[in-house]
Amino acid sequence: MKLTYIGTAAAEAVPALFCECSFCENARKRGGKELRRRSGAIVNNDLLIDFSPDTYTGTLSLGIRLNEVKYVIITHSHSDHFCPHELEFRRAPAFCILPDDRAPLKVYGNRNIEAGIRQALGDDLALHGIDFTYVPPYVPFKAGDYTVTPLSVIHCLPEDAYIYLIEKDGKRLLYGNDTGVFPEKTFDYLKGIKLDIVSLDCTMGFRDCETGHMGFSANLKVKNRLEENGCVKDDTVFISHHFSHNSLREPDGDWTYERFSEKVKPYGFIMSYDGLVIEK
Ligand SMILES: [Zn+2]
Ligand SMILES: [Zn+2]
Ligand SMILES: [Zn+2]
Repeated sequence: MKLTYIGTAAAEAVPALFCECSFCENARKRGGKELRRRSGAIVNNDLLIDFSPDTYTGTLSLGIRLNEVKYVIITHSHSDHFCPHELEFRRAPAFCILPDDRAPLKVYGNRNIEAGIRQALGDDLALHGIDFTYVPPYVPFKAGDYTVTPLSVIHCLPEDAYIYLIEKDGKRLLYGNDTGVFPEKTFDYLKGIKLDIVSLDCTMGFRDCETGHMGFSANLKVKNRLEENGCVKDDTVFISHHFSHNSLREPDGDWTYERFSEKVKPYGFIMSYDGLVIEK
């Protein structure tokens, strides 16, 4: 299983679109890993997680081909994760030329995602080459050879925001962004399930936050709970992900990729960056 991060920032990106703060100004100068697109990732070459405003340009610069994507799973309806108007361009032959027998793009998500797609594209999704399926939490579904399970998290109530457990060929990825510490039902569901890769929201950096988003101390809490619940192996990879310029900018200095990475390494975490690839 190969996980590639297409974007690793919170909603306003890093540097933030219109921002003149010190971190954003420094990020513009430093370039490289300090530039972060809106969040999203891809598993292998065919399962996309979230569709941010930066998905297209991100995939272009990473050499990822969206025409090879068969499945899209969406975590929640915030605009940094879900741009339903982009799906309009799957309509063939108006906006893309594809073989006649190409299956529709299968999109999965909660009820808010369903409403958003229908609002953007209307009810005739087949016309746009899209096949949407509402997926309830805690019920595994098949997307080709993947087994995917949405798990509820608290982020933007009353919307039922999800993280996803993704399994293929005996490997398991738990992909999350935009969550606080998980609700008990989600920890309970994961009990005894061995995870290979765990990607956690770290929007708040080293600030304490456990609700709606997480800071790194909450990432450690989640890791500890997963360890207690028998989910962690010797080689499980933990990644802190989804960063905001507001929490990377601190009076004692910028949390650059290098500085942040050094700080979290002793705790068994790595910091995500655009283009990071984890292979298991
Ligand atoms: Zn977000
Ligand atoms: Zn800024
Ligand atoms: Zn969000």
